[in-house]
Amino acid sequence: MIIRKSREEIAKMREAGRIVAGVLDMLEGHIRPGVKTETLNELAEEYIRERNGIPSFLGYRGFPASICTSINEVVVHGIPDRTRLREGDIIGVDVGVVLEGYQGDAARTYAVGEVSESARRLMDATAESLRAGIEACRPGKRLGDISNAIQRTVENEGFSVVVQFVGHGIGKEMHEEPQIPNFGPAGRGSLLEEGMTFALEPMVNEGTYEVEVDEGDGWTVRTADGRLSAHFEHTVAITAEGPYVLTLP
Ligand code: MG
Repeated sequence: MIIRKSREEIAKMREAGRIVAGVLDMLEGHIRPGVKTETLNELAEEYIRERNGIPSFLGYRGFPASICTSINEVVVHGIPDRTRLREGDIIGVDVGVVLEGYQGDAARTYAVGEVSESARRLMDATAESLRAGIEACRPGKRLGDISNAIQRTVENEGFSVVVQFVGHGIGKEMHEEPQIPNFGPAGRGSLLEEGMTFALEPMVNEGTYEVEVDEGDGWTVRTADGRLSAHFEHTVAITAEGPYVLTLP
C-alpha cells in the first residue's frame, strides 16, 4: 500500500529534506583532491546532529556510516573510509535524515577538480533524467510514467540505467512502497495521487547496466565493467499543483 501524507506530514518531510540539501551544499565546499571520504562523513553527521536530525543511514541494516560515498565505478552504497579523493574522480554522495519522525533522502554526484568530458556528460544525463522523472510526479500520471521518463532520458544520451536498485516511497520510513524502477513502459503501474511521497534516484552507468555487490563488505555496488556510474536523488511530494521537491535548500 502506498501511504499518502497530509499537508502537515509533507511539511515535516520538507524540514528533514532541507537538512539533507544543506548537507549536500555544505559538502560541495569540501570535495577536492586529497580529502578523505571519512572526513566528508564526519562533517555530514555533525551538520545533521547540530540541527537535531538523525542520520538515517547510520546503523540501517548495519550500515556503518551516516552517508554513502561512491567513487567512480561505485554505483551506490560506498562506505566512507580513509580513501582520498583524486583529481578527476566523480563521487556520489547519498544522505538520509530523519527529523521529528519524518525522512528526507537525496543524492548528488560531484566532480573532483577537472573530470573527463564523458564523466561530465554522464553526470549531466543523470541529473537530467531525475528532472524528467520529477516532472512526471503529478496526480493522474502513473508510476510507469516516472520510470519511462528517466529511462528515455538516459538512453537518449547513450548511457544505461541500473535495474537492480530502484527508487522508493518514503515518509516515516526510509523505504516504503512502491518500488520505483528507473526503467519500464509509460502508462502502467499505480495511479499517482496527491500526498504520495517518493524518493526518485536514477543510477546511471557509462557502459553496461550490470552491477556487482562487494562480497567483502556486503554493501559497495560497482559497475560490472568497471566504468563510471552516477547517481542523483530527490524526495518529491505529489501535490495538486504538481511536483514539490522536498530536498532543495
Ligand atoms: Mg533512496
